[in-house]
Amino acid sequence: MSGTAGAGPATFPAARRLSGLAQSDIRRMSRESDRLGAINLGQGICDLPTPGVVAEAAKAAIDAGESTYTYPEGHLALRRAIAEKAARYNGLTVAPEGEVVVTAGATGAYTAAVNALLDPGDGILIMEPYYGYHVNAAVVAGLEPQFLTLAPPEFTLTEEALRAAVRPTTRAVVVCTPSNPSGKMFGRAELEAVARVAHERDLLVISDEIYEYIRYDDRPHLSPATVGGLWPRSVTITGLSKTFSITGWRLGYALAPEPLARAIALVNDLYYVCAPHPLQLGVLAGFALPSAYFTEMREDYQRKRDRLCDALATAGMSPLVPQGAYYVLADVSEWGFGTARDAATALLEHGGVASVPGSAFYRGATGENLLRFCFAKEDTVVEEAIRRIRRFRPRGNLV
Ligand code: PLP
Repeated sequence: MSGTAGAGPATFPAARRLSGLAQSDIRRMSRESDRLGAINLGQGICDLPTPGVVAEAAKAAIDAGESTYTYPEGHLALRRAIAEKAARYNGLTVAPEGEVVVTAGATGAYTAAVNALLDPGDGILIMEPYYGYHVNAAVVAGLEPQFLTLAPPEFTLTEEALRAAVRPTTRAVVVCTPSNPSGKMFGRAELEAVARVAHERDLLVISDEIYEYIRYDDRPHLSPATVGGLWPRSVTITGLSKTFSITGWRLGYALAPEPLARAIALVNDLYYVCAPHPLQLGVLAGFALPSAYFTEMREDYQRKRDRLCDALATAGMSPLVPQGAYYVLADVSEWGFGTARDAATALLEHGGVASVPGSAFYRGATGENLLRFCFAKEDTVVEEAIRRIRRFRPRGNLV
């Protein structure tokens, strides 16, 4: 039986606060790419192999029946490994019991943090170009996204611009470093400016560092919470999706001072109960990988970045060479399409390569000259995409 007879709307409407949220262009391009059998350099899926030890440890945990709930804040052994890594890699001293919350991906950490620490109507300042989830999850939490646009090619953050963007309602600022989509890595002077403004205006700083291991040209990763005394007012978020190529496992974590972490753990419990138990034990094994694993990953991505940027330049685009993460934004103004969507559609339909229109990362028309390409793919896939991009003739496809 479908539906019921009688008066009233055919279906119950979705919540009003979702009305501005369209399906993201990233998902749309992925679906189109699948339909056309194209190479998908759109979505940041990361389909490189998962390290064997991580997969084996997860399988062993399932075989051993480690299938119950864990504490909402995560398996203690994993929290200890995270705390050890945070000290070694991020320069953050955190207590495994109290300051670490294991979550369903960095997304789960962000969602839990904004719901746990902010109230409906609070302003949250997001730097543009942005990762769409930072905006949309804030909207679903009833927050008011506020924006600060950073200009290419350097995407430099100045204290002056930050001060001008903070409004009386602003309660938090999001720092994504390395950033999706720009690859921008914030330097010490920029983070010190964030710290000064955050202290002065009593702001929470939420940093998304999911690409912390994917950085180029020996640029060091700097965790905002280690700069300018930010720790007491910060939430440091990261995830294992990218580090271990396990985007579908849904594992990440938040680090925060105890009162904040307690609130995040509470919401994490209400939303998810806990992150997947056997997979927590899989990533626990990943934390023991030698540093060579991370160095090789970086070098591999850097090679892919350089190859792809060369190809984009030969195809008449101007790539904005990223400092970190695994995306390239490329300016396609020279191609002469009216919108980024038109350019992305032409490249997909006539070139067999999916990208994401830059408009997905901006509110207005600012991104209309940009496409984003993801290079978290096997070399053979990247090379085939490069061959197709080099062969693509945008002007021949203009109608
Ligand atoms: N944060 C940023 C900046 C991302 O780019 C992504 C994925 O593309 C995520 C978070 C999602 O991370 P997770 O898979 O851990 O939820």
